[in-house]
Amino acid sequence: MMRFWNYFFLCVFAGMLSLPAVAQNEGGGVLPQGNKPFVVIIDPGHGGVDPGAKGKYSTESQVALGIGLKLGKMISEIPDVKVYYTRTTDALPGGGTNINAALRWRANFANRMGGNVFISIHCNSTKLIRHRELIGHKTEYVRVHHKRVKRRVPQYRYYTTQSLQQGTEVYVWGVSKDDDKNLALRENAPLLNDPEYKAMFDSSGSAINTIFWNTVQREYTKQSLALAADVENQFVKIGRVDRQVKQRQVGIWVLHATAMPSILIETGFINNPVEEDYLNTHQEELSTCIYNAFVNYLAGVKGETTAQVLAGGTTPVVAQKDNSHYSYKIQLLVSSNRYSVDDAKFSKLDGKISREKDKENDSTLYRYMFGSFGTNDDASRQLDMIRLMGFKDAFVVTFRNGKRIDQ
Ligand SMILES: [Zn+2]
Repeated sequence: MMRFWNYFFLCVFAGMLSLPAVAQNEGGGVLPQGNKPFVVIIDPGHGGVDPGAKGKYSTESQVALGIGLKLGKMISEIPDVKVYYTRTTDALPGGGTNINAALRWRANFANRMGGNVFISIHCNSTKLIRHRELIGHKTEYVRVHHKRVKRRVPQYRYYTTQSLQQGTEVYVWGVSKDDDKNLALRENAPLLNDPEYKAMFDSSGSAINTIFWNTVQREYTKQSLALAADVENQFVKIGRVDRQVKQRQVGIWVLHATAMPSILIETGFINNPVEEDYLNTHQEELSTCIYNAFVNYLAGVKGETTAQVLAGGTTPVVAQKDNSHYSYKIQLLVSSNRYSVDDAKFSKLDGKISREKDKENDSTLYRYMFGSFGTNDDASRQLDMIRLMGFKDAFVVTFRNGKRIDQ
């Protein structure tokens, strides 16, 4: 869960000063240069002194780490892809105890490692819902103009219940919504008047442009949206409640500070008991969804098929033109007995029976074959029926130019 004001203040007072420089000068961009591997930064949210949102028996920090490690393991099996984690244990990244410093560390780490995509994993949480219930009235006497007046005062019971919100949300750093843009400008106004800050950007044109509308960031947003939308798609496919992709200008500093396409996934509501169980027992399923979306994304930016991505970008070798003649037969049985092709055991079969003599060590074996088919499919279609007729071990044999090429 991203606490808005927490990240907002960090954004204003700590992060923004170094942000545009970071965004332009580091990170790996959408695709790696040359033959470098595609670098994926996996960022399990929170950790250590910062447990994040809490469920009945687990924390956001634990769930995010569990999903992050499983996801990383899957992604690291893809050829030419390298995975880095901002943390692999239940500790704040960077080794400190300051949550905001850890947040900056995550973004800097992602940029330093030359990340090509940044995937941050979190859980959602909602506040308790407050309820008020009328439980009766109390009689009170009050003085009004020196008179004693009887008054009925309603009595309430106050209690809270867990919100049962559920589902997933994926956030990207947004640049397209004017409202958000204005909000971001307004919220960051004190910083824009800061002399040190002004000096930093005087040479490179408008600071406002640099921060909010630079084309690089816009390109990242486009890619981030593509990945985010597919992550939600994958979640929908397995029946998760879709709370959709959301763009944010403020509050998610880490997404803007990373100079690469970045998404933040809220995998579910840990304060909802049903969702907490799901988040703890279905991490493999959640990771697989994110993995599938990542494979699609990688194929998209590389201009390859997902099969090529998973095979390491090797395009399938185009088969040499083959002038051989192929035919297919069904082998019925192998026996040391020499039966006639008209033998009663073959009488139920409607087709040509052939017998092949084979020497194996010192003994002579006879293979009994059925039919001759132009394609493997034609032969296979007959196979079930032939097995039902008692030739349980029958199988299809391929011949090239009349010569058997498999056993
Ligand atoms: Zn969180």
